[in-house]
Formats: sequence, structure tokens, C-alpha cells
Amino acid sequence: MKLTRLIVIAFASSAFFSCGNNANNKHDKSNADSIVADVDTMKYFVEQFADIRVLRYKITGFEQLAPKQKEMLYYLSEAALAGRDIIWDQNYKFNLTVRKTLETIAASYKGDKTSGDWNKFMEYSKRVWFSNGIHHHYSSSKFTPECSKEYFSELLKNSDATTLPLNQGENVEAFTKRITPIIFDPTVAAKRVSLDPKSDLIKSSATNFYEGVSEKEVTDFYKKMNVPNDKTPPSYGLNTKLMKENGKLVEKTWKVGGMYSAAIEKIVYWLEKANAVAENDAQKKAINLLIEFYKTGDLKKFDEYCIAWVADNESAIDVVNGFIEVYGDPLGRKGSFESVVSVKDMEASKRIAAIGDQAQWFEDNSTLIAEHKKKNVKGISAKVITTVMESGDAAPTTPIGINLPNSNWIRQDHGSKSVNLGNIVYAYEKAKSPSLINEFYINEDMNKRVKEYGALAGALHTDMHEVIGHASGQINLGVGDPSETLKNYANALEEGRADLVALYYIIDQKLIDIGVMPSIECGKSEYDNYITNGLMVQLARLKPGDNVEEAHMRNRQMIAKWSLEKGQKENVIERKKSPEGKTYFVINDYNKLRTLFGELLREIQRIKSEGDYEAGKNLIENYGVKVDPELHKEVLERYNRVGIAPYAGFIQPKLVPVMEGDKMVDVKVEYPIDFVKQMLEFGKTYGYLPTIN
Ligand SMILES: [Zn+2]
Repeated sequence: MKLTRLIVIAFASSAFFSCGNNANNKHDKSNADSIVADVDTMKYFVEQFADIRVLRYKITGFEQLAPKQKEMLYYLSEAALAGRDIIWDQNYKFNLTVRKTLETIAASYKGDKTSGDWNKFMEYSKRVWFSNGIHHHYSSSKFTPECSKEYFSELLKNSDATTLPLNQGENVEAFTKRITPIIFDPTVAAKRVSLDPKSDLIKSSATNFYEGVSEKEVTDFYKKMNVPNDKTPPSYGLNTKLMKENGKLVEKTWKVGGMYSAAIEKIVYWLEKANAVAENDAQKKAINLLIEFYKTGDLKKFDEYCIAWVADNESAIDVVNGFIEVYGDPLGRKGSFESVVSVKDMEASKRIAAIGDQAQWFEDNSTLIAEHKKKNVKGISAKVITTVMESGDAAPTTPIGINLPNSNWIRQDHGSKSVNLGNIVYAYEKAKSPSLINEFYINEDMNKRVKEYGALAGALHTDMHEVIGHASGQINLGVGDPSETLKNYANALEEGRADLVALYYIIDQKLIDIGVMPSIECGKSEYDNYITNGLMVQLARLKPGDNVEEAHMRNRQMIAKWSLEKGQKENVIERKKSPEGKTYFVINDYNKLRTLFGELLREIQRIKSEGDYEAGKNLIENYGVKVDPELHKEVLERYNRVGIAPYAGFIQPKLVPVMEGDKMVDVKVEYPIDFVKQMLEFGKTYGYLPTIN
């Protein structure tokens, strides 16, 4: 399960803004410096086209890994990229045909590569590369080029015909006729995944998981496989294409010797290399089972693999590689190929451990009523990973959290792993546009602070929210679970409670003393973020006339609005208007605001501890739900004027082995900055599959 995919890029995790260009930022010298790296010269934002932003991420700490670990990461990354073609074919039968055509034109077209038409063609190509096919990666609707069919046929005529995916005996003219409707006709393969219950979900979806079959045939086919009372059912159909052959339903299995064999053989080749340098036996066992699964296509092996994978908790290196998520199938059965290669984030883990170690201190010193404090509080452990390579369904768009395996009985009997992709979240923060910050922060200090510390402050907030926030407090004896007592307000109140623990402590000297924060200024930037976001910026997600519905958004607005009102007399937060009539919120007194956060924390904990439904309801309904239509309109206008595309994805780092003879002695990381170049390179290097599978 993907915990979240970022859609509107301006709203990552908890902090909302950070600087896009950090090259000249200086950080105060302290332990916390190592979290940010001394001088981060990485350019995180690369380019924007259509509704897409292309970003980069950094493999923080890679250089410090042992040579053997780097070697293993290299092999796993190759295994990831080896499967790239599979997702293209899974998404739509003719995606590889289209991609090879676009690759040919981009690489060999002999005409003018500066014209408006060319730019339109390239924008289309980039959108296809970004979506792993001709359908939008998020909406799954087909998109078409802005250039004309005539221009497109000129491009084909003047490109290298020997690299076009022509059929046997087919000439360029015939090929042009064949491919034009696939690319230009919006009614051909209009939707990758149709979820419209009024039509046959399989027939109206362009996905290549099925061919020539109806929804009913599919449902009946798999119904027959169910064994009554099977406590450990395999994920039937996860790794096959279901189609008709001579009028009979057959499954084509994705395995060595089966469908996608050419790519899967390469995956297996690299996994075997990785296994030879594995960190320990548990990891070895898991990878071996994955290899066996790829060789046999046996779903029982896949389950065995998942169980071994969950059991491997000691390894620093981790990998997801397989047919994993089922969102690409309208019936939720077929697994899209994806791979995420990662290594445990030692710095973030240290930071989290440093906070977790002090959990009792935080509990003892909080504003909670004594009887609501836990006597023995244990910090919740959260895992953060550093992403090294992503492929298939996980690239270029990426999840920021992953919780696997998906099989329910394995989750129940053997548990699951839940991770945050720390360096991806960090990159999102760093890539945020400075123009957004300029738009919403009038005060020079706030503006500077948010640009300098926003990313770190956001990460700290998230850490504290998870590790000491949710872990804090106790419910009075005899009072039921909040889901019963606080009902539909339980989620928003719980998120608010965890946020308030983080907010209360984020300007505390304690964080500097334990070495996780460079200065109080860093903490203040989180206050700036939180108030401006809660009162204004997050409204950009809503359509005019909407109320706030989502739990996190409700809690943020509730906290910000409540603090604004309670601090009004003393002018703690001031609402200002610029000469052009723009609204701003400026914090005048950070310490008083902290006191207010503490008061609200105590009250929400009381509500939870006593199960006081009425009080909880009033807090959320009075402060968290309603939207001022005037301010909303203003925010939408200002946000749109900044012109930031709502979707983002990443260029992958490149791992380059350093060889001595035939021994790998080191691996260097490069960070390519040209999206098109990487796409062409991937197509050439990892284009293992035939055009039609
Ligand atoms: Zn939470």
C-alpha cells in the first residue's frame, strides 16, 4: 500500500514551504548540521512542463556506506531498472510501440529542433515518459499531442527508420497510419483504468492486464480459484495476464520462460549478484525466495518471500521488487511491476532515536494535567529510509510512504513493514518554490527563516509528531477508545494532539541540547509555517464553496484559528493587509503562542482522556471546518498566480561502479539533471522487451 503520493506539491508532510535554491544557505554549526549536510548545493527542482514538475533527490550518506553495501545497492538498482519495460507494457499494449517511436524521433530527427511544433512534440514525449505511457499517471485519462498529425508524420519521415518499431514488411507510411490513431485519437484507449460502474470495467479500461475478456468472465474465472476456508490464500492472478486463446481463457504468467521473460531474466541475473554480497542470512533468504518466484511464477513462493522479507529487520539495505500494487487493475488483482531500492537513513534514525530516548522527559514536562500523563512512556519507533533507486510504477512519480506486504493474512500473521522515504520528502521540501514563500510571508524575518530552516523544521515536527506526539497521554480508566467516544472527530483531534506536542517543544532549548536542532530560529520557522498554512495556504486545495473535510487539514486550521482567537487581546498573531490588499498573518510573540499551544494540548488531551464528545465536536466544528469565502478566493488567486504545477516526479540518480580488474571496489553516485537524456538512456540500456508481448 502506498501510504501517500504527493499530489499538490506545495503540501508535503507537515511543513509547507522551503527554499528551492539552497546553494548559499549557511547553517549554524551544531550537531544538527549533519542532518542538512554542510553546504547543500543540490539543485532539487529541474524543470516544469504541462502539469508536471521534474525534481531530483539525493542519496544522503551514500559515500559513508561500506564498499560491499554500495556494491549490493548497485546490483539491486540494476535489477530495478531491468524491469522498467514491464510497467509500460502493463499500462497499455501499445505503450512500448509509442515509446520506441518517440525515442527514435527525439534521437534522430534531422529537421529543426527549435520550432514551436517541435517543442509541442517534445512536451508530449516528456508527458509520455513521465506517465510510463500515453495515459496521465494520476487521472489515467489519455492525453494527446498539441502538434498536428501532419507535423508528426513529417517527423517520422525524417527520422531513422531502422530504429522505428516497424512490423515485418511494414514501411514508414504504413506505420504512420497504424500509430497515428494510437497517439492522436482521444477515443482510442481513452482510459487506462475505468472505474465507471455503468460500463464493463475490463472492456472500458486500456490496461494490458486483460485481453478480449469481459468483466464477468474475469470475475467468474477467479471465483473458481477460491478454496473455501483457506486461511492462507495466494494472491490469485497477481502475476498474470488473462486472455482468450482459441475461445478459451488462459493466464500468461510473468516469469522466466513466460511473458516478460527477457526483462525478468535480467532482474534475476542482478538479484543473484546482489544476493552474493547480501548483508546477512535473513536478507539472503528473502532475495532467494524472490528469485525462485521469478523463475517459477509460483504465488506460494511469493508469499514465502513476503514472509521472509517482513522478518528481515536487521539489514540496512532493503528492496521492494516485484508485482506489488494493484491500483492499475480496475478489479484490483494484477500487480504492477515496481522497485524501490533503499538503505536505512542512519541520520534520521539517530535523530528519531535521540527524541525517542527523551520521551519520558517530554511527557513529564508537557502541559498535560498530571493524571493524563503517562508514567512510563515509550517513543513509537518510526523507520526512515533513504531511497537509492526507483523504477516501474514507483518512478518518475513516487510514493512518500510504503506499507507492505499487501496480503491480508500475511499482515495479520507475520506483520508488515512501514517506512517513510525520508530523502524524497526532503527533496519535495527543498524544491518548493521561493516565490510561494514570497507570496505568503510579508515579514522579512519569517520569510528568511522559512527559506533557511523550513525543511529541517518540517522533518523535526514530523519526527516529534510520530515519536512522542501519538505516544503521549493516557485515557482515564473506564473511558472507551476515542473511535467510540469521539467518533467522527477522533481522527482530527488525535492529529491535532500529536501536532501540538511537536509545536509545544519545537522552540524548546531541549532540542538544541540533545543535538537535533541548530537554533531556536529553526523552531520558530515551524510556527511561521504552521500558522500561515493553517489559516491560509492549505485553502488552495479546496474548491470554492467547500468546507474543510480532511482530518489533517481540519486539525491544522483548528489549531491556527483557535490560537489566533485566544491570542487576539495580546496581539499574539496579527492579521495584516498589504497596500495591494493582500492578507498576511504575522506572529508577534512566539513564546506566548507556545503557551497557547500548551493550553490547547492540555484541553485536547482532557477531551481524549475523558471521552468528552461535545467539547471535541465544538473545537473542530467552530475552528476546523468553516472557510471564510473571501479569504479563500484571495488565496486561490494568489496561489494560481505563482503558477506551480500540481504533480511532481523524479530523475533517478546514477550509480557508477568503480572497477579494479573485474572486482568492484567502489560505487560513485551521479545526479543527472537532464530528464529527456535519462529517459532516452533508460530506453536504450534497459529496453529488454519486444514491442508487443
Ligand atoms: Zn499523526
